[in-house]
Amino acid sequence: AAKAEGKGRFSFYQPGLSDKLMNRLGKEQALRRAIAQDEFIMVYQPRVETMGGALCGMEALVRWMHPERGLLPPEEFIQVAEDTGMIREIGSAVIEKTIAQISVWQDAGLPVVPVSINVSALQFDEGHLRPLLVACMRRYRVNADLIEIEITESSMLGGGDLVSGQLAAIRELGIKLLIDDFGTGYSSLSQLQRLEMDVLKIDRAFTSQLRKESSANVLFNAIVVMAHALDMRVVAEGVETLEQLRALQLLGCDEVQGFYVSRPVAASEMPALMQRECLFPPQRAGLRLVSG
Ligand code: C2E
Ligand code: MG
Ligand code: MG
Ligand code: MG
Repeated sequence: AAKAEGKGRFSFYQPGLSDKLMNRLGKEQALRRAIAQDEFIMVYQPRVETMGGALCGMEALVRWMHPERGLLPPEEFIQVAEDTGMIREIGSAVIEKTIAQISVWQDAGLPVVPVSINVSALQFDEGHLRPLLVACMRRYRVNADLIEIEITESSMLGGGDLVSGQLAAIRELGIKLLIDDFGTGYSSLSQLQRLEMDVLKIDRAFTSQLRKESSANVLFNAIVVMAHALDMRVVAEGVETLEQLRALQLLGCDEVQGFYVSRPVAASEMPALMQRECLFPPQRAGLRLVSG
């Protein structure tokens, strides 16, 4: 059966193995090869000011350039990478690629904004994260104020003192810390206060519930007030509609990110966005005249 699969391909078929497990073993091996062959690229999604739409940051998101299947999103491989520990290597590659890209934009004289990098809890367990950041900042001549770190609410809490100590040391470099997917974990107010993070990113699940009159707006508002009291800025993730944007403007949310503003784009598309004053899609004046 292995031969029938084709030349140069190794089949994992063994009687008794479930399809799911085979699929998983196949993925694991493919992922190992992908790391060796450096098949990862970063795409970037803008973050803009809620009121004026000015670019104020962007998030680096990893993609796997699969030789046969094309560009794969993280949902296809991050879980396997986490389970096998390969996320450590992928995560290091992500940091180096992103900082190298910032330096390319910088050298081109572009008005670069801070770029946030997602890190997994496993990247803290060997204490390599801070030294890697420092090494990349030196090598590529990029300042700390252009780099931000995103860590999910749930992985931060699971990590305990090991993680919070390293986060504090990274923050001392001048790198801002963002809490990702806020609202999906169970952090308490006192934990939030103790951790000293700079930005709270409210999960897409909350944003998607926003509308003119909705109990979700009340909850969202409470989070904004709390974050501001703790001296954090608030970002709404997953903003897809004008209605959501309008609600967020009323709720005092500082920044927004989502398909309404821009999908994640290739690095080559960012310079044009960096030079625009406002990233909101243009309102069609004609339509407004008709309805008003
Ligand atoms: P995340 O950090 O919460 O990233 C936001 C995700 O939401 C991205 O998915 C983005 O494309 C998507 N998104 C943004 N705006 C919208 C919207 O308006 N509507 C909808 N439906 N989705 C939107 P993506 O790129 O597929 O990444 C998924 C997750 O994978 C990320 O969630 C993050 O947890 C993880 N991830 C991505 N890149 C990395 C990485 O370099 N390292 C690590 N450890 N995890 C990563
Ligand atoms: Mg993120
Ligand atoms: Mg998020
Ligand atoms: Mg999310």
